[in-house]
Amino acid sequence: MAHDSDATPQTPAVYDVLIIGSGPAGYTAAIYAARANLRTLVLQGDQLGGQLMITSEVENYPGFEEGVIGPELMDKFEKQARRFGAEMVPQDVVKVDFSSRPFSVWTYNKQYQGNAVIVATGASAKWLGLPNEQRLQGRGVSGCATCDGFFFRDKEIAVVGGGDTAMEEALFLTRYASRVHLLHRRDSLRASKIMRQRVETNPKIVVHYSTAVEDVLGEAAVEGVKLRNTQTGEISEITVQGLFIAIGHQPNTELFKGVLDMDEVGYLKPTVNTMTNVPGIFLAGDVADSRYRQAVTAAGEGCRAAIDVERWLESQGEVDSATVEDPAAWGETAETTDASFARRAPAAH
Ligand SMILES: Cc1cc2nc3c(=O)[nH]c(=O)nc-3n(C[C@H](O)[C@H](O)[C@H](O)COP(=O)(O)OP(=O)(O)OC[C@H]3O[C@@H](n4cnc5c(N)ncnc54)[C@H](O)[C@@H]3O)c2cc1C
Repeated sequence: MAHDSDATPQTPAVYDVLIIGSGPAGYTAAIYAARANLRTLVLQGDQLGGQLMITSEVENYPGFEEGVIGPELMDKFEKQARRFGAEMVPQDVVKVDFSSRPFSVWTYNKQYQGNAVIVATGASAKWLGLPNEQRLQGRGVSGCATCDGFFFRDKEIAVVGGGDTAMEEALFLTRYASRVHLLHRRDSLRASKIMRQRVETNPKIVVHYSTAVEDVLGEAAVEGVKLRNTQTGEISEITVQGLFIAIGHQPNTELFKGVLDMDEVGYLKPTVNTMTNVPGIFLAGDVADSRYRQAVTAAGEGCRAAIDVERWLESQGEVDSATVEDPAAWGETAETTDASFARRAPAAH
């Protein structure tokens, strides 16, 4: 078994599976893979524990009837994965080579190899870059209405954005908030007609066109937002207790461009089950999910990916098993697996 503390070997130890990312998807994949006796290494990345590390209360993760603090939840995920023998490296992957097996990934100072890889690098909410935005995150500034809307019952809040996501978030938030100010810097919304109509006819939503957000105000929590009229330059303030930024998400897939299939935004696309276009490379969580983006769905995807890895390795004869899945289940035949791999695998990136 390989250890991260080993001196850099000439030929790195080959793990059964390398997992890139330590959010709910990566850690859940690690729990399942390690518990299935696969030699498992998690490349945790610089943001140990993923997105939930920057939130306080998580009230919708099953099993915690009183809610749980985000970092505490992720600490439990990590401990559970370690309990079954998953190893951890708290570094970002900076380079990958998926062109031949074993696959290689590099951190800034070391190479790691695995017969399969699960990519669980998540997505990052886009922020506005306001002077006080980061300081007030989790104190009224949020990037997720589904996650945090509940905390704004009978409060006045603002949503920033002009696309369908912003419309959805604004409409969703009317279930809780007394009033929702939708702030958009252009003079018309770019959302679909049906969503625009729903927003514009909702009595709880006030749309502010040609309105840019200059800053978010408040000491311990959000108390208001400072606005600028993009046509007249006039500065004004409104009093709100919450600011939801709904200007989109960016999947963390820069590393895989030209290697793994992705959509125009950069979300990874599966080919068979959770497997990507490169046989042996799997995906899990927000990195491939522009729709649900929840901890529980990411965890579920991590479970699926680990089970897929286990079955795929069995089909390749890489790990012992009583029941070997037919390679045809992965769109390959036993005879063509190697040739097919060579044909479909892209060059190093
Ligand atoms: C403020 C906030 C509050 C939220 N609240 C809730 C909530 O209450 N309930 C809920 O269900 N969901 C909530 N969410 C959403 C939830 O956090 C995400 O859906 C979930 O974390 C996605 O899990 P993931 O494992 O796919 O990715 P992430 O949690 O994004 O984790 C990605 C991981 O990949 C790693 N990584 C990235 N690039 C690299 C690289 N190059 N090399 C190595 N590692 C890399 C990162 O370090 C990180 O560990 C919230 C999100 C935010 C931002």
